[in-house]
Amino acid sequence: MDQKDFKIESLGEYFTKKFQVTLTQREPINHDSYLFRFDFKNPKERLGLQAVQHIKISGFNLKGEVVERAYTHVFEDDGYFQIPIKIYRPNVHPQFPNGGELTPWLEKLDLNSELTIKRCLGKLCYHNNQFIVRPKLNNTWSQFDTVLFICGGSGITPAYQLIQSICNNPNDNTKMVLLYANKTEQDIWLQKELNEFQAKHKDQFTVHFTIDKFDENWKGLKGHVNFEMMTSKFPKPTETTLGVLCGPKPMNKLVIYLYEQFGVKKDNIVKF
Ligand SMILES: Cc1cc2nc3c(=O)[nH]c(=O)nc-3n(C[C@H](O)[C@H](O)[C@H](O)COP(=O)(O)OP(=O)(O)OC[C@H]3O[C@@H](n4cnc5c(N)ncnc54)[C@H](O)[C@@H]3O)c2cc1C
Repeated sequence: MDQKDFKIESLGEYFTKKFQVTLTQREPINHDSYLFRFDFKNPKERLGLQAVQHIKISGFNLKGEVVERAYTHVFEDDGYFQIPIKIYRPNVHPQFPNGGELTPWLEKLDLNSELTIKRCLGKLCYHNNQFIVRPKLNNTWSQFDTVLFICGGSGITPAYQLIQSICNNPNDNTKMVLLYANKTEQDIWLQKELNEFQAKHKDQFTVHFTIDKFDENWKGLKGHVNFEMMTSKFPKPTETTLGVLCGPKPMNKLVIYLYEQFGVKKDNIVKF
């Protein structure tokens, strides 16, 4: 879909039609994650999504029931796209003996298998310096001077798309600050890419990493995201500050509360 053709109201089928792609590569990134590559049948086809729109992958859980989960590609070219996916394996976490429903299936799926996906509209649209918050309920474009991001683990992928789009748009001066939380340094996705964006767009984008387990060489923030981190790293919010979040469920609940305490307008808080 071309940027100039982007009109939400005319996109019904675009976001509901299911289609098949082929799993062609699954390269490990770290101890529990892979970069998956999916190929279209047509070598010229693309997902063609705007920043922050994702896809849903359908697969099966242990009981053989169909399950659908959301994923955000970090790279695409003619005929294929790539998504980093964290696997929630069984027998790793005592609270979740069966692991996740979909990702153990994705980890075992044979290469060259076909699987069903669909495109999704998502909770935020970005187009040329303008945003629509919750586009299923609202179709008003607004402008934000600052976007704050708080992400945990694999929740970085939708944020990364938006950061990439804003940094790559020379007409967009939106300021962005990202607070990215992980268990260990090894769990951080896209660290090099985020640091490169920061170096290249110093006046526009800042990233802060925080981890739970660290050694004496760690120079970043320590521990879970908290109010102090926000007050020390984020600019004071205004009417035109957007607060974005994407992480595991318990973290999201806390982050919404923290954003509100920090002073981000309730309507401007968006969970991907
Ligand atoms: C807009 C959006 C974009 C997303 N993009 C991506 C992406 O690009 N890449 C990506 O990897 N994910 C992404 N996600 C998350 C993804 O949609 C799934 O939630 C995730 O893959 C888990 O699916 P699942 O069916 O395997 O686990 P579920 O059955 O949904 O269970 C997941 C939850 O179970 C618990 N759990 C289960 N097993 C374990 C374990 N072994 N260790 C710790 N906790 C466990 C955790 O609380 C975990 O959050 C995105 C989510 C959204 C909303």
